Amino acid sequence: MAWAIWRRGLHHPSIRKINSYVFQRKASSSAPEGGAGKGIEKILVANRGEIACRIMRTARRLGIRTVAVFSDADRDALHVECADEAVRIGPPPARSSYLNSSAIIDAAHRTGAQAIHPGYGFLSESADFAQLCEAEGLNFIGPPASAIRDMGDKSASKRIMGAARVPLVPGYHGDQQDIDFLKLEAEKIGYPILIKPTHGGGGKGMRIVHSPHEFVDSFLSAQREAAASFGVSTVLIEKYITHPRHVEVQVFGDKHGNVIHLYERDCSLQRRHQKIIEEAPAPNVVNEFRSHLGEAAVAAAKAVGYYNAGTVEFIMDTASGKFYFMEMNTRLQVEHPVTEMIVGQDLVEWQIRVANGESLPLNQSQVPLKGHAFEARIYAENISRGFLPATGSLHYYCPVSISPTVRVETGVKQGDTVSMHYDPMIAKLVVWGENRNAALVKLKDCLLKFQVAGLPTNICFLHRLANHWAFEKGLVETHFIDHFKQDLFNDSGSKIATATSAAAKFGAAFVTACICENDNNTSKEKLLGVDKMLSLWYADPPFRMHHSTKRVIELEWENELDSDCWEPLKLAITHVSQRRYSVEFEGSDSSALEITVVPLGEGKYKIDADGLSTNVTLAQYSKDNCNHLHIWHCHHHHHFRELMTYGRSIDDDFDHKPSFEAASRPKGSVLAPMAGLVVKVLVNNGIKVEEGQPILVLEAMKMEHVVKSPRTGYIDGLLVTPGQQVFDTTILFTVKEA
Ligand code: ADP
Ligand code: ADP
Ligand code: MG
Repeated sequence: MAWAIWRRGLHHPSIRKINSYVFQRKASSSAPEGGAGKGIEKILVANRGEIACRIMRTARRLGIRTVAVFSDADRDALHVECADEAVRIGPPPARSSYLNSSAIIDAAHRTGAQAIHPGYGFLSESADFAQLCEAEGLNFIGPPASAIRDMGDKSASKRIMGAARVPLVPGYHGDQQDIDFLKLEAEKIGYPILIKPTHGGGGKGMRIVHSPHEFVDSFLSAQREAAASFGVSTVLIEKYITHPRHVEVQVFGDKHGNVIHLYERDCSLQRRHQKIIEEAPAPNVVNEFRSHLGEAAVAAAKAVGYYNAGTVEFIMDTASGKFYFMEMNTRLQVEHPVTEMIVGQDLVEWQIRVANGESLPLNQSQVPLKGHAFEARIYAENISRGFLPATGSLHYYCPVSISPTVRVETGVKQGDTVSMHYDPMIAKLVVWGENRNAALVKLKDCLLKFQVAGLPTNICFLHRLANHWAFEKGLVETHFIDHFKQDLFNDSGSKIATATSAAAKFGAAFVTACICENDNNTSKEKLLGVDKMLSLWYADPPFRMHHSTKRVIELEWENELDSDCWEPLKLAITHVSQRRYSVEFEGSDSSALEITVVPLGEGKYKIDADGLSTNVTLAQYSKDNCNHLHIWHCHHHHHFRELMTYGRSIDDDFDHKPSFEAASRPKGSVLAPMAGLVVKVLVNNGIKVEEGQPILVLEAMKMEHVVKSPRTGYIDGLLVTPGQQVFDTTILFTVKEA
């Protein structure tokens, strides 16, 4: 209950006043209420993951019972555990379960829920679903279907916004789709311009056009992609802003015509057009700008008769300081907690009360703004493969402890699987501080302490982002990651890289010493998760404690930000006396490191090395014929692996993959870079291909990825077909040399 603790913990006078506010149920209210004239007593949450858990937490605090729905993949998921009741709604694919409106409506009727909260994603922005709920006598906790419909079409919404005098990016938002006509419009706007699908989302189908001679090709390909992805080929064109910030405003309305805003969030830090760090309020913004933005957002919401939670997205031109309406998201947003932190309110509570017909608890002038908040989205993803979503098992999961100023929103627990069916977000880390600096210090600290092992995550990358000088100064814009890629990705000559490798050596020494100490104290059978017979710790000749045998150990250290790079580390360990070890590194002139290990239980150890004492956490598991070892020490997290010793033949020099990963695959074979669905195969077996030529298209959760040929040659053994599910270990095809 981080939220309740937070509310008790903050002593800001305005927040105290607001906390004592009671929502007033209007006696004269004509608004619909759930059930037979009663307020909402039971809510079905039509979602999964962290947002389902988040909604249930508030419902529980309000004394409202909850119903979860789940697909076969989620039978044991956290959101099912959090609910009072749970109903199965279908097989794993979202279209058969979480997007299956009739199964969800049936589940509500069966359990007697009076209201449905759609969360975000899935059915949350389906006007048809909102309408269906109301037709079935179920209270949809969200905006009216008409407002969802108005805002679902980017062109139509821009026309409504223009009429309401909300500033728009210069562009053409009409119905005309004639290519010559649009080309003329593009010239009027002035290049560069952006072509956008009118019914798009997730950044798909957008094309930047720099000059008139690129127009036709870009237009046709945008139309094709729009038709394929959204079923509607219409596009709009607008001025392309070269250095924009994404700034959005949280709005809230009730069913009595009141609409207010709860300030803005900056969500400029994006990869693949998707947000990864958000903050509130927006940095480097003056109060006058803030109020103009807020007023424009309220005007936008009023223009479509909005009620409940919504977000009005603006694009801000950093060159001119002007802002323009981009789109409205008619739902609770992923990043709503940063707003909650600065205004001291529970937005899910507001949503439920508004759905119940109550008035907003505050008027505009009563909304406090206190301190600063950040949200970092922790994803299972592969940084070195262009942020592709990753799947796998959460062998070890230990998020930071929550406190009045630290929230962790999560939908998973240790041992869960992040599957290819849904969003790969593991958790949201939300921190609050008195000011931006204080919040940032906390963000960095929490990212260091957030422990996940078993699948690749973006934690290390988020930490680099949070530590970047330009981010520290609040100099954010949507191209931030691309602009600073030199600083953010590993450049082996850089100071950071050198310091990281040095820390990795200490990490390797600590891991080795801890495991030896474990081995000494624990009976072998108790070593968790590691296939003992295959581990080198049990290799022949065996490593024996209390014998001053020197044992040489070969590990590989994962350099997370470098392209799938595992660096070899060879060390020798000698047991000196009780709990004391001496570790030497191959190829190093420096003297041996003397290490004392004190086990503290549950994977925690106290280590004394080189006159310094530090606490470390160790996690280990076996996967793909390797033992994986993770250690968190001081300000570092390191991941090592050791090959299980059943000598495989290793012959793969093709794409510089670490030898043991490729142990059994044929030379020239190309593995799927992520788990997903094959949507298109662009070549046939036997044809000649050039290096870089697109071979097939994979899709997983909101993204398409084109797999290209890594070299010139002939396609041989094309093993997959459209519609096939693949894993990140699946061989897709082989390219034979000519
Ligand atoms: P936001 O600005 O809040 O990140 P997005 O539109 O990018 O909004 O998506 C919000 C969330 O909705 C995503 O993080 C994801 O969990 C979910 N989502 C988006 N699209 C889909 C989809 N097609 N299927 C299932 N969930 C989706
Ligand atoms: P989606 O529905 O895919 O979220 P948006 O219209 O919200 O589509 O745009 C997604 C992202 O594309 C924005 O967050 C911003 O980074 C970028 N973008 C949108 N419009 C423009 C523009 N006119 N100029 C430059 N970048 C833009
Ligand atoms: Mg958007």
